[in-house]
Formats: sequence, C-alpha cells, structure tokens
Amino acid sequence: MDRVGFTTTIPLEILIAAGKIPVDLNNVFITSPQSHQLIEDAEIEGFPRNICGWIKGIYAVALKEGIREIIAVTEGDCSNTKALMEVLSLKGVATVPFAYPHDRDPQTLRLEMEKLMRHFGVERDAVYEAKERLDVIRRKVWEIDRLTWEENLVSGGENHYFQVATSDMNGDPDVFEAEIDAFLGELKNRRPYSDQIRLAYIGVPPIVEGLYPFLESHGARVVFNETQRQFSMPYGATDLVEQYRAYTYPYDIFFRLADILIELERRRVDAVIHYVQSFCFRQIEDMIVRSKIPLPVLTLEGDKPSLLDARSRIRIEGFLEMIEGRD
Ligand code: SF4
Repeated sequence: MDRVGFTTTIPLEILIAAGKIPVDLNNVFITSPQSHQLIEDAEIEGFPRNICGWIKGIYAVALKEGIREIIAVTEGDCSNTKALMEVLSLKGVATVPFAYPHDRDPQTLRLEMEKLMRHFGVERDAVYEAKERLDVIRRKVWEIDRLTWEENLVSGGENHYFQVATSDMNGDPDVFEAEIDAFLGELKNRRPYSDQIRLAYIGVPPIVEGLYPFLESHGARVVFNETQRQFSMPYGATDLVEQYRAYTYPYDIFFRLADILIELERRRVDAVIHYVQSFCFRQIEDMIVRSKIPLPVLTLEGDKPSLLDARSRIRIEGFLEMIEGRD
C-alpha cells in the first residue's frame, strides 16, 4: 500500500477509503530517535535557523522516509507549510492541495473534500464506511480522555499520546485499536491520581520531551490537551463536512477559545499552560489567550526536540507554587 504524508489533520476517512497508509509527518518526526539530527539535516540543506522546528523536522523526515506524495493544507495551516511544500516538490514529492475555508463555509469545505475524493478515486459510500470504522476507534480514545479528567486514571502524557495518534491512527487502525484496548484493560487495575493541581495544555503539541512527567512529579496533571483532543474529532458529528467544521484547529483563535473555555470549566481546571513554538506565528495569539482565559496562564516556549530545559523547569515550578499558594 502507498503511504501518503500530511502535515496537519486532513479528512483521514478519504485516505483510508482509498487504501492508503496515512502518515502524519509530525508524529513520525517527533517520535524519531534522530529528531534532533533531522532538524540539523534541514538546516544543512538551507533551512534558516529562525524557522519553526516542526517545519524543518517534517521536511527532513519526509525525505528520509521516502514519502512520494503529501497532502498540502494550503489554508488552515501555516504559511511556512506552503514554502515547505514548494521545496518538497522540488525534491520530487507530489503535493495534493487541500484547504480549510477560513470562514468554515460548509459548501466550500464540501467542494474541497470532493476534490480530494476525486484525486484518490473514492466514492462517498466508501468514505462513510471508513468513517464508521475510524469512529469506533475514536470513541475508545474519547473514553481514555474521559477517564483522564473524570476518573483521574490516565496521565497527561498518555492522554496526549492516544489523542495525538488519532490523526493518522499510527498508520494502521487495527494495530492502533489493539493498543488502545490493551491500555483500557490495564486501567481497570489502576488507582486514581490524587493531584493537587489540574492543568490544561493548549497550543500545538510540544516539541520538547518530559513535560508531562515533570508536571506530575510536582503534583500537577494535565487533564485537558486541547489540540491533541481535536485530532480525535471529539464532537461525534455524523456528517463528514460538519465533522471537519467542528474541528477547531484550522480555524481562528476565537473558535478554538469557545471550545477551550467549555472544557476548562467542565474539567475543573486550575491553570493553563499555553505552549508556543519558537518562530511560530501563533505566538501572537498568546495575547488573546491571556486576555480571554479567566485562569492563571503560563506561556511556555519550545524550540527544538530536547528534554524540557532548566529555564522552563524553573518557570513551571514557580508557576505551580503560585497556584498552590492561591488555595
Ligand atoms: S508550530 Fe506554528 S510555525 Fe510551526 S508548523 Fe505549526 S503552525 Fe507552523
């Protein structure tokens, strides 16, 4: 089966219906033992130092993995992605455009999805059949999420992992489902966490390692991973266009905030970590996040794949002490 890469969540159902192996290049890059080296490789090839690490990592990993076709999200992702696609096509990688309309217009989104279906030669029925299959797995991941915040049985890192993996189902839905089933089985014998502080993690997934265990070693656990949860299509829409209109990540910060504010309350969150990526345009949105979220917010910046650095650790410790002191 052919592998098709992508740089942000796309209608996965279409690739599954077409019998392709979906590859979320973010996940392959960040889980690679050579993630740091991949960034260096991209810089050696000419990527500027002051460009986001994810872009460089995705570029290098796509070439290293021999990916021949990529879905390029031209709207709803970042402008760096456009240039990334141009350099990848220079290297002979075929790019298939897909756009999330900025205004979430259902007609435009439907047309975009139909274009993608035509490209991969699949019909509506097959796509809905794939959706049914994927929704079974997604529902199990929603349960992991519920067990995180409602029954306190799941760590922030585990919650991150299972939700983030739904973007491409780790390339094999059946194997991924078996992993989920085994994990859910394990939880039956687990004791609930008794954290002092309940945190939300918002923003793009972290490029740095060790954040979740570090928080947990200080009595704080992430009970809401914003973007990662979005990958699991958590609203249960039966219509495919509605599913990708409800998915908040490609749309504006105010649409994302509406979801964030509901979840902060529902999950009884005490404080928020807003992760921002160095050289990412989304850093500007931190101003809006801070003015709209009625809870303490720590803005944490990551640059390259590495262990959580000393400065971030000290800032987190100070933040958590401040939260504890408020009670
Ligand atoms: S972190 Fe920001 S700059 Fe980097 S790929 Fe994502 S949206 Fe683009």
